[in-house]
Formats: sequence, C-alpha cells, structure tokens
Amino acid sequence: MSQAEGASSGASSDAPSGAPSAPGPTPTVAIVGRPNVGKSTLFNRLVGRRQAIVHDQPGVTRDRITAHLELDGGRVCALVDTGGLVPGDDPIGLNQQVELAVEESDLLVLVVDGREGLVSADETVWSHLRRSGKPAVLVVNKGDTREAQERFDEFHRLGIPDVVLVSAEHGVGVGDLHDLLGERLPDTAGEAVDPDLPAVAIVGRPNVGKSSLVNRIVGAHRVLVSPVAGTTRDPVDSVVEHAGERYLLVDTAGIRRRSQVTGAAEELAVMMARRQIERAQLAVLVVDAAAGITTGDLAIAGSIWELGRAAVVAVNKWDLLDDEAREELEKGWPRLDQILASPPRVNTSALSGRAVDKLFPALQRTLEAYQTTLPTAEVNRLFEQAVRRNSPPLVKKRPWKLFYATQVSTGPPTFMVFANQSLPLRHNYRRYLENRLRQELELPGVPIRLVIRKR
Ligand code: GDP
Ligand code: GDP
Repeated sequence: MSQAEGASSGASSDAPSGAPSAPGPTPTVAIVGRPNVGKSTLFNRLVGRRQAIVHDQPGVTRDRITAHLELDGGRVCALVDTGGLVPGDDPIGLNQQVELAVEESDLLVLVVDGREGLVSADETVWSHLRRSGKPAVLVVNKGDTREAQERFDEFHRLGIPDVVLVSAEHGVGVGDLHDLLGERLPDTAGEAVDPDLPAVAIVGRPNVGKSSLVNRIVGAHRVLVSPVAGTTRDPVDSVVEHAGERYLLVDTAGIRRRSQVTGAAEELAVMMARRQIERAQLAVLVVDAAAGITTGDLAIAGSIWELGRAAVVAVNKWDLLDDEAREELEKGWPRLDQILASPPRVNTSALSGRAVDKLFPALQRTLEAYQTTLPTAEVNRLFEQAVRRNSPPLVKKRPWKLFYATQVSTGPPTFMVFANQSLPLRHNYRRYLENRLRQELELPGVPIRLVIRKR
C-alpha cells in the first residue's frame, strides 16, 4: 500500500466515535505554506481544544497531522496540517509529503506570513501548488501585527480570489475562515461512481508530459464522486466529465507522483504502463513531439495492442517543434501508426493547453468503436467481401476456406470465424482480414480479434 492510500484511509476511517458522520467520503482540507507562517497555530485554533483529536502518522520527517473539523450543518471535514513546503532544495523529502497531502485534498488553505508581506518564496510555493488544480483559500496570518494589516493588499497579486486576514494566535478572523471553508468545500455527498464508466489510462515514457496533461484534464474536468460499496474504484483514480460524458482516468495520483521520481528507468516505465493499461479499455499514449517516436514509445504501443486495448495518441510538447524535429517526428510516425492501426492522433501542448480538450472527442469515438456490435448477417457480408477482394492463400498446401463468421464479444470486437482449417496467429491473411474489417467498420486505433475454428 502506498503512503497516500494509507494516509487517506487514516483521515476518514479513523474517525473518532461520536463525531458526526458525513455522507460519502470525508472531504479533506490541507493547510499548506512555508515553514513558520503559522500553520500549526492555525490548525490548533481551527480544531479547538475540544475537537483536537489528533492522529500522528509516524515514519515521516514531520508527521502529517489530521483532525476532524465540524462545519456548518453537521458536515465534517478532515483537516491536514502538512508541515512546511520548502521552495528549492528539499533533501529530506518534506515536499513529497506535502504533495501527497495536496493530492488527496479537496481544498487548500495556503497560509502566508502577513508580517513579512508577500515574499518571492510564497509565489514559488503557490505557482507549484496551483498545478494541482485544487481550489484554494489564501490566509494572511499574523493579522495582529501592523505590518500584516498594511501589507495585506500585496497578497492579491497571487491571484487567489478568497483572501482572509487572520490572527491564528489570537483567534481573530478564524471564525470567518471557518465559515468560508464550509462554503468553498464541495458538497461531499458526491455522486456514486458508475461502475460501467469507461476506464482510460494515460501512459508514456518518463517526461513526455503525462502528469502535466493529467493536471490539465483533471483540473478542468474533475467530478467529485463517492465510491459505491462493491465497486473497486481506486482512490487514486479520477472521474472527469466532458460534453456530458464521463471517464474514469486510472491512476491519476500515481502518474503525478511518479513524475517526481527523477531518473526512473525507461524499462520500469514501460512495465508500469502495462499495469495501467490492464485496468483500462483505452490508453492515451503520450509521446514527446520534440523527441520523435522512440523505441520506448513503440514498446508501450506494443503493450497496448497486445493487451487488446484501444488507443489514442497525444503528440505532446507540440509547442517545441521546429521544422527539423517535425520532419523527424513524421518520419518515425508510420511505425507507431502501424502498431496501433492508425490511432486517432491529437497534437497537444500540456504547457499551453493547446488541443488538450480535443482528446475527448477522440476518446469518445474510439471507445464507441471499441464496443462495436454487429448483426451476424453484417459480419458475414464483411468477411465474404474481404475474401472476394483477396482470395485466401494455401495453408498447409490446401486452400483456406471460410465457412461463416459471427461476433462473439466486444471491447475489443472479437469474431469467431469457422473455416476448413485454422490460420497461424501471425499469418498475413489473418492480419489482412483484421485490417479489412477495421477499415470497413472505421475502427481506427481499435484492435480486432479473430478466433479461427476448424470445422
Ligand atoms: P508553521 O511552521 O507554519 O506551522 O508555524 P507555527 O504555527 O509553528 O508558527 C510559527 C511562529 O509564528 C510561532 O512562533 C508562532 O507563535 C507565530 N505565530 C503564529 N500565528 C501567529 C499570529 O497570528 N500572530 C503572530 N504575531 N504570530 C503568530
Ligand atoms: P511525465 O514524466 O510524463 O509525467 O512528464 P511531466 O508532466 O512531469 O513533464 C515533464 C516536463 O515536460 C516538465 O518540465 C513539463 O513542464 C514539460 N512539459 C510537459 N508538457 C509540455 C508541453 O506541452 N510543452 C512543453 N514545452 N513542455 C512540456
């Protein structure tokens, strides 16, 4: 179990008995900011002595501390004090702890030191945190000091709409903050996850921009949902919605976290991709436009295909392309195109946001194609047509002869073909039939399976 999962269950299932229980998962508020701005003081002030039921999670440099905080209307949230986020050097991995807490939270409370005014470290911290796409409330602390009162306006430069001045130490303004948290925290009854949601994996080599892309998508399209008993929704997944359609993005937390692991070997990345692909119906293979199509990309494409999943390719970092790199990319493209049977391709820039939303229509079309179901008469018409266009070869010195075919399953579309003899798995004619069908049915990026039975 990863630390993230452990921590999140600590926040909800360890609820002290007697605490009012909220429907659905407990929403989580993370207090973040540089060291010494007053986060712990604020935490204690918000939670109050009466409710200060504190869980220490051992084994980390500064333990993350969680308490349950009662909001208006009997709702409860988990409040997490994250320790300090230190800009720059981070030899003890403090920031990673904070990342995990941020990842699991529904709302951030960014605390800054009003006495110091806005310092560049605050801007660094915020520019990093905002990538999470989480809503945030800005708390200017030490409001009891003259400096804080005078310099309060500086903090609007961070661009966070909700700004409150408090004195954690003296309890001034903390009530207002408490109310604001109740207002800003999404209503957490949430909606149940539909277990039939199509699952999408975002995969690719390290550094191609997966986590940037996921942040873009999740930041703009996330839907708050609660797990339903009996479903296996993993807390590291996200449900996103676009144009009324919902998708389960598998392992979004993992994608973001892994990008922190620098220098992860490429083979390892290929293996990890495989695990994600197994959980999905469709994989978005992200490649780096400026790097061209590499053997690592082809290896992951091979996994997608071999596992029988549909594919869409995001050619990311499109903003970095110059003429030369573009030529190189297009030269390498046909190999990928062949492995994935002409997958839909979207040229994106996760950095600028270019074309990121165009991934959705491509996903939708490809997922529908993946679930194609045909009546038997149509299946036979297509196979007979294919055979007429290109006569079957001799197999073991005898002409191969098709009797009839029928679709036996979908996702991927799978056909049972009865013939006078079977066809070896890698036989050209088998591939021809698959390709012919795919073209006729317009199923780019969708694998087709043929099961050939001797009759
Ligand atoms: P953290 O590292 O962000 O958790 O910060 P602490 O809560 O440990 O506080 C850092 C220092 O700021 C301590 O010396 C606190 O007494 C002081 N401090 C916290 N809140 C206030 C406040 O509202 N006003 C003033 N003047 N000092 C505060
Ligand atoms: P991951 O390892 O695949 O998750 O990649 P990251 O999302 O961590 O991105 C790796 C690096 O590429 C980061 O420095 C990103 O800022 C950068 N990056 C990601 N997408 C783009 C893009 O579309 N254009 C440019 N120029 N840089 C990008």
